[in-house]
Amino acid sequence: MDHFLYRDGALFAEDVPVSEIAAAVGTPFYVYSTATLLRHFKLFDDALDGTDHLVCYAMKAASNQAILKTLAQAGAGMDVVSGGEYLRAKAAGVPGDKIVFSGVGKTADEIRMALSGGIRQFNVESEPEMEVINAIALELGVIAPITVRVNPDVDARTHAKIATGKSENKFGIPIARASEVYAHAASLPGLEVIGIDVHIGSQLTELEPYELAYKKVAELTERLRSEGHNIRRLDLGGGLGIPYTRSNNAPPLPIEYGALVKRTLGHLGCEIEIEPGRLIAGNAGIMVSKVIYVKSGEGRDFLILDGAMNDLIRPAMYEAYHDIVAVQEPVAGVEQRPYDIVGPVCESGDTFAKQRNMPPLRSGDLVAFRSAGAYGAVMSSEYNTRPLIPEVLVNGDQFAVIRERPSFDEIINRDTIPSWL
Ligand SMILES: *Cc1c(COP(=O)(O)O)cnc(C)c1O
Repeated sequence: MDHFLYRDGALFAEDVPVSEIAAAVGTPFYVYSTATLLRHFKLFDDALDGTDHLVCYAMKAASNQAILKTLAQAGAGMDVVSGGEYLRAKAAGVPGDKIVFSGVGKTADEIRMALSGGIRQFNVESEPEMEVINAIALELGVIAPITVRVNPDVDARTHAKIATGKSENKFGIPIARASEVYAHAASLPGLEVIGIDVHIGSQLTELEPYELAYKKVAELTERLRSEGHNIRRLDLGGGLGIPYTRSNNAPPLPIEYGALVKRTLGHLGCEIEIEPGRLIAGNAGIMVSKVIYVKSGEGRDFLILDGAMNDLIRPAMYEAYHDIVAVQEPVAGVEQRPYDIVGPVCESGDTFAKQRNMPPLRSGDLVAFRSAGAYGAVMSSEYNTRPLIPEVLVNGDQFAVIRERPSFDEIINRDTIPSWL
């Protein structure tokens, strides 16, 4: 459920008409709903009620400061995957002891930054990385809390580009080598081994892969404890999917996921950490765009929008489906027609949908891409010298621009000309 609904024939973001935002900021733009962000955070928080836990929002899904602050004020920790994200989380007021550092290639500079500024734990992905964290911790005279990300070799049954838990993926260490790697970690004086980390992929639509993975984590916890490691925190990753269409089978709910966590791991008495990104932000944001032209082609009609693949790359990158709706609610019973919905970028891949049934639309009409809050704005680029589009946050009947559209001058002046030109 989200807070982008029709009222009296027009799409609203909470209590604000989407067309009013469009008039104020121009199109295209992203708009997020505070109520939806908070609702989704609370679903996870409540799902783990009764267990010692922290929900660490995977901020790579949508990392605007205003979104981070909204979630941090509700009690969320943050899962970061780069030094830049670490600084963003800090800037949004998240204390270091609520920031988890994940990612397969943390650099020495990033590790130093986090160890100096405070960190809840590093989720270590390889032995060379472990050595570097140890060396920097010793140099700084601190102890680095770590978990090791294990790769449980389960098939998350999601899109190949977002599956991370099979042995052929680049993530984590093979679970079969865990004893050896944990023994190595325990021998390094700059590290304190506190737990286990696992993250098997994104947009999971069934619980079974989690069940398989978490059972392996439970066994591993007991094995590592018997080998003398004080395993007291389990970071279970993120990845729970969201419904991108209204018709397909709904993915499991956070409450069902939470019950699975308790059932598979509750007996271990560990503190539980989860890192949801998409489920918190995905349906909390839409991208609004305007029809520039309606063009009749050979046997098909095109809706050419002012939004493009550089603004929302998911369809081009993952063949992702986004519901696209007219901001002006179609009259009941109006005949729909198939359109190819495209952006103006010079790539055939700049196609949002093929032969999508839509109500009749004309040049100047607004459309909204639903479920665009996660992996939307954060993946945008200025390809074709198209400025990054604004982000807007709605809260009840108020809205604020939380990232401005840069001017062309700002974009062009970022380049510098060498002296020989
Ligand atoms: C991307 C990522 C997440 C979040 O995944 P979602 O599918 O957005 O929930 C969590 N943990 C790690 C380590 C990730 O890389």
